[in-house]
Amino acid sequence: MKADKTILRVAVPTPLRRLFDYLPARYIDESRLLPGMRVAVPFGKKKEMIGLIMEIATGSDFPYSKLKRIHRLVDTEPVIDQQQLKLINWASRYYHHPPGEVFFNAVPAWVRQGQTLEKLQEFAWRLTDIGRRLDTAELKRAPRQQQIIKHLGRHELPVTDTALLAAFPGIRPVLDKLVEKGLVEQVVATDNSQTRTLADDIKKLNTEQREATARIIAAIGQHQVFVLDGLTGSGKTEVYMAAITAALEQGLQSLVLLPEIGLTPQIIRRFQERFDCHIAVQHSGLSDRERARDWLAAKQNRAQIILGTRSAVWTPLAKPGLFIADEEHDLSYKQQDGFRYSAKDIMIVRSQQEQVPVVLGSATPSLESLCNIERKKHERLVLSARAGDAKLPEYKLIDIRGKKMHGPLSQVLVDEMQRHLAAKNQVLLFLNRRGYANNLYCHTCGWKASCKSCDLPFTYHKSSNKLVCHHCEKQQRSMTACPECHAELILVGHGTERIEEVLAEQFPDQRIARIDRDTTRKKHAITDLLEQIRNRNIDILIGTQMLAKGHHFPGVTLTAIVDADRGLFSTDFRASERLAQLFMQVSGRSGRGDKPGTVLVQTHNPEHTLFQQLISNGYARYAQTLLQERQQAWLPPYTYMVLLNAEAHNADDCRHFLNKAADELKRISGMSLSVFGPLPALFEKRSGRYRWQLIVQAEDRKQLHNHIDEWLVQLEAMKLSKKIRWSLDVDPMDMA
Ligand code: ADP
Ligand code: ZN
Ligand code: ZN
Repeated sequence: MKADKTILRVAVPTPLRRLFDYLPARYIDESRLLPGMRVAVPFGKKKEMIGLIMEIATGSDFPYSKLKRIHRLVDTEPVIDQQQLKLINWASRYYHHPPGEVFFNAVPAWVRQGQTLEKLQEFAWRLTDIGRRLDTAELKRAPRQQQIIKHLGRHELPVTDTALLAAFPGIRPVLDKLVEKGLVEQVVATDNSQTRTLADDIKKLNTEQREATARIIAAIGQHQVFVLDGLTGSGKTEVYMAAITAALEQGLQSLVLLPEIGLTPQIIRRFQERFDCHIAVQHSGLSDRERARDWLAAKQNRAQIILGTRSAVWTPLAKPGLFIADEEHDLSYKQQDGFRYSAKDIMIVRSQQEQVPVVLGSATPSLESLCNIERKKHERLVLSARAGDAKLPEYKLIDIRGKKMHGPLSQVLVDEMQRHLAAKNQVLLFLNRRGYANNLYCHTCGWKASCKSCDLPFTYHKSSNKLVCHHCEKQQRSMTACPECHAELILVGHGTERIEEVLAEQFPDQRIARIDRDTTRKKHAITDLLEQIRNRNIDILIGTQMLAKGHHFPGVTLTAIVDADRGLFSTDFRASERLAQLFMQVSGRSGRGDKPGTVLVQTHNPEHTLFQQLISNGYARYAQTLLQERQQAWLPPYTYMVLLNAEAHNADDCRHFLNKAADELKRISGMSLSVFGPLPALFEKRSGRYRWQLIVQAEDRKQLHNHIDEWLVQLEAMKLSKKIRWSLDVDPMDMA
């Protein structure tokens, strides 16, 4: 190795797990080169790719004559700072994922496409003098215009464009109208002039909330992880907001992660109404330009609060003060394909690197977090009562074996619904299965409509008259006669569409809304539906887990879990935990207002321990039982796990590859790791591909990771590895 030339070690987005060495372009002043700058480089058959300088070295393992020169330097100063480089490096090592792909995941599209960021000036909206003097009653025939005028009127500062659009989706044409009328105007976004003080916030908190807030504030400037364990409606968000105020007072930024479905306009509005500062938003619904603009505002400390979904965890902060992940148990924090990272774990690593406290909030903390509390790694902060006067719901288990049913609804449930509706309350029915019926089959010959690519039954969707595979999304026209024997086909099993139909028969005078992926496909549909519910234009709502997360429905006094048995006997070791969380989250939707709530649970297994324990002892105690079971079964969080997934058109190829992989790992690790499999995945087939996996486990994280890199090099060299799709999942959350 000669050590006399400047070598750029570049992360290029390819599946190869390494950096690539380049020489600088001839005309470049080498003293200007810094890690974190983007470069355009020639790569393989591609003419040009955008990469990131990770290191600058003075030698290469390759002969200089083999090295190519970069085409050009994209940036005049690093677009990725030292802190972010450190994080990308860590994630690439921990997840054993190519650094170029980690970089790709960690930045907005604009950055990875090599666009310059200088043009991205943030602009904001405020009322004109005429707008300020306007009597909003004059706009009562234009409610959307009125809403915007009122919203802007509540703010001292102009509200930034992205944040306003996130809080009021689809409002752009309304803003244009208001500009035309001379009521609002566009200005350059200004810095924050936070006028609230912590004292204002604290006054409104109850004792537990105050104590929790004080603990968090005391940790600002340090690495510390808190689990804010509080029932739905116990006031966790108020605690987040008070702590954010404290960070703002110290001139520090706060990053708040929300689950995908939780990042609704309502929560953005709630933050906007509370804080007179620049709020940046990061989620997939934004345009590339908006996304890059807010990313830059966070990086340059022009935005003080950043609200976003999973990928927002990568947002660079100039003055980081506080990290928050709401509904920390939510699965959407783990990316399930490509670069399989956990945003929650990335946040905790950032907390160490940047000395910032983390708050993980949930009514149903994950077993991982509970285990970390047990190990004294995390600190638990408890909110034990519902805020204000709201009471906890009362549970009623309904044994539906042999009972009179109206489709999926028992008579007991129908009667109970009548009572609540007669008292002018709202009712929520939960069924985690969309479509009309989950089986279409022939009673004469036994033929069943199933997806050939997945070997799973099709779901019948009545509104579109289609058969849909919920596993691979394949669709085809439905039929009425058996293709084998021409007998009439029958429908079995109930989905949300079917319930909607039964409800229309049973409750002809009530207004019914269905919320699932089918009814919310159109942009803003979910927002409109939620608005309808809040405004009490709906009496009965029926929905899938989209309804279970974080929404406030103060008018709902009865919640029913229509089919509580679903998933009860799954073989996934996390199934009981997920079911318990879902159960608590669904029941948390009711009785949030001043009226107490009731939760009805329809089941064929009323004696099942999950129901018995959850209802009589609550989530926390049940979670303890589950933790003990995990410990006895030598499963996470008491062990660490890596999954090697293989997919191929031929199941034998998967098995061969994984068998060889297993032998290889045993050889490398000298039997220090436990290797299970090859095993078929929970759903063995999807889209015509067989899916098998190898489970690697160890008691110690370091021990587990020690041999993986070497193993991957061996796997990449295997001939068979070219024939199949394979991937590594570190700390897998979903074994399906
Ligand atoms: P969570 O985030 O735990 O679901 P929120 O913070 O959203 O709970 O609080 C639920 C409701 O209770 C909100 O309407 C909130 O304004 C109200 N609330 C929160 N804390 C208090 C309090 N100390 N006193 C009165 N109302 C409160
Ligand atoms: Zn038939
Ligand atoms: Zn399918």
